[in-house]
Amino acid sequence: MTGLIRTAVRVEGVVQGVGFRPFVYTLATGLGLTGLVGNDLDGVFVEVEGPVAAVSEFLLLLERDAPPLARIERVTTRAMAPRRSASFAIAASEPAGPAGPGGSGRRRTLVSADTATCADCLRELADPADRRFGYPFINCTNCGPRFTIVRDVPYDRPLTTMAAFAMCEQCAAEYHDPADRRFHAQPTCCPACGPRLTLRNPAGDVLAGEPLAGAAELLARGRVLAVKGLGGYHLAADAACEEAVALLRARKHREDKPFAVMVADLAAARRLVEVDAAAADLLTSPARPIVLMPRRMGAAVAAATAPGNRQLGIMLPYTPLHHLLLAALAEGGQAGTRPIVLTSGNISDEPIVYRDADALERLGGIADAFVVHDRAIHIRTDDSVARAFRGRPMLIRRSRGYVPEPIAVAGGFPRHVLACGAELKNTFCLARGRHVFVSHHIGDLENAETLRSFTEGIEHFRRLFDVEPQVVAHDLHPEYLSTKYAVELDGVDLQGVQHHHAHIASCLADNGEDEPVIGVAFDGTGYGTDGTIWGGEFLAADLATFERGGHLAPVPMPGGAAAIRQPWRMAAAYLGSADLDVARRNAERWPAVVAMAERGVNSPLTSSAGRLFDAAAALLGVRDAINYEGQAAVELEQLADPAETGAYPAALKAGHPFQVRGIDLLHGIIDDLTAQVPARVIAARFHHGVAALIEAGCLAMRDRYGLGTVALSGGVFQNLLLLHATVGRLEAAGFRVLVHSRVPCNDGGISLGQAMVAAARDWLC
Ligand SMILES: [Zn+2]
Ligand SMILES: [Zn+2]
Repeated sequence: MTGLIRTAVRVEGVVQGVGFRPFVYTLATGLGLTGLVGNDLDGVFVEVEGPVAAVSEFLLLLERDAPPLARIERVTTRAMAPRRSASFAIAASEPAGPAGPGGSGRRRTLVSADTATCADCLRELADPADRRFGYPFINCTNCGPRFTIVRDVPYDRPLTTMAAFAMCEQCAAEYHDPADRRFHAQPTCCPACGPRLTLRNPAGDVLAGEPLAGAAELLARGRVLAVKGLGGYHLAADAACEEAVALLRARKHREDKPFAVMVADLAAARRLVEVDAAAADLLTSPARPIVLMPRRMGAAVAAATAPGNRQLGIMLPYTPLHHLLLAALAEGGQAGTRPIVLTSGNISDEPIVYRDADALERLGGIADAFVVHDRAIHIRTDDSVARAFRGRPMLIRRSRGYVPEPIAVAGGFPRHVLACGAELKNTFCLARGRHVFVSHHIGDLENAETLRSFTEGIEHFRRLFDVEPQVVAHDLHPEYLSTKYAVELDGVDLQGVQHHHAHIASCLADNGEDEPVIGVAFDGTGYGTDGTIWGGEFLAADLATFERGGHLAPVPMPGGAAAIRQPWRMAAAYLGSADLDVARRNAERWPAVVAMAERGVNSPLTSSAGRLFDAAAALLGVRDAINYEGQAAVELEQLADPAETGAYPAALKAGHPFQVRGIDLLHGIIDDLTAQVPARVIAARFHHGVAALIEAGCLAMRDRYGLGTVALSGGVFQNLLLLHATVGRLEAAGFRVLVHSRVPCNDGGISLGQAMVAAARDWLC
């Protein structure tokens, strides 16, 4: 015996397109091992041959030193007979077979998310001696576009939108050199062979001169630009220039909703907002989300950027194009200090524009010029939005940079699942094996374009992840377009999942838990099992089942959807018959609405917590009508005095389910208004009152069900003041508290919850 062994190794997870094979090659040859490495439909396969000690060392380092973008989920080994191979080789990729159970292809490998430009590429980008100096499309195995350019799997150049670009000799040499950072980097390119940037006028004509210098000059002159990014077009304007931002707002027909701002680096971010350690990690992470942070006093950003908001959404550059644009803009003595507004390229509520012809057509009336390139975007993907809560990331919109990385579920999915999600902030998800693939942010399913994104997205994900849904989970609301899509599918097992149960299941999955909890689901609207509109719910829930233990006392919603757009209607519904100053001030319009509510005409009953916030905001004169979802609550939060900790009491009406009287909080507001207590103090007391009401509800739930863990979900918990106050109170009362982190607490997390409920029902069978 020579002590020579040969071991077959299989690596599963996100291991393709992340530099795994060159890493294995370098590792194996460095240890003097022979053998081979290759990609196939299941991931990466390796055979290593050499002395026992060297093979052991290889297996240790394989997991410990894996490339930064790799996500190893499983490594399995098998002994083989030694073949005395002379060297270590890289095997060719196997092509994918046809998808689905009917075909032979099993596409288990995972496509990685789009990734911000890495430090090595940035160094080359800034190096005049490098052949990619100043090239806006530089990338390598460790960074660059992925999900947004992938048409099919396996992840290979011909199946991406880079197929149109033939590699030049130098790029091809790097691509085939296992020792090179760009070995098998599918989107690799250079100025000689890759995509090109142009600056165009709204008619589509190319403007003369260097495109980035021209773009920077236009921005500096207060003009609005459309900039083609990774997942779609952005609209850009000089964030420090009041006129420019106001112009963008007016042209985009976006009245109040905050714009995100891009700054050159972390130091520039710190000049505008308070950045704690967790927020800094999020800002600089490869996913590069928009991070919401408290705005600094006197931050040099136009007031119109985020009106009425103490928070500012900031992101750092994530493509070489962004880096170059910000650098070009900084020239002229203001190095690094020039932030730009960078907001989705769309009109009002339409989805982000991602096709070039569409961009010229739809954004032509908004942008003065277009920064365009010829690398196609295959899947439109919005920027992700996140914030830090207690040192942990909390995603508010999970999209670019995160999707399509799967969420692993220990219990797994006995059958393939499609979950269709909610109506607003829609995501869908597909699940198989141990993985849930939650889609990018689709948006509000209310126009044809968004619905097309939804249906095409589902088809794309089915192909990419080889999922043939046997179970289709959907909301109970019959009018949701996502529900209608589900019920029209043939030959599948339909599983209706109650909206707030889905919220709680989503929170459980987010935390990797499956034990029964007290689920507190507070949001705007969700269809209840009794046909009324729920939204202030205390559920005793596990993944498969729930019982409604309590809820906010129902009130009429006068005018239905009109009450959502006009918060004053909720104030009238709550306090309509009371003889109040606020009612007298509204003498013109309240009586009709109150009568409507009292007679029950077009006034569905709701236990919605979102509507309670609306009523409070209207009473305080914060807002009578809204321009974007949740605006009244957002502004009420901004108004609240952080130093005030008083709380209005609310009574709990015993019963099964019990009811919590939200109206008591509003009476607290009225009393304080009468006593001329400042609005900022009242707003704070209302928030703490809601937290106290949640605590009271959870104590009643603990008495009845004996549960000690609380899961908080629903869009209302995007309110940080409320979340901090609620978690603080619950922990002080001895509860363990679960909050969201990886998926949003808002309806963007509903699809994950639906999939979990469907799977858990299968586990019971
Ligand atoms: Zn790179
Ligand atoms: Zn090239």
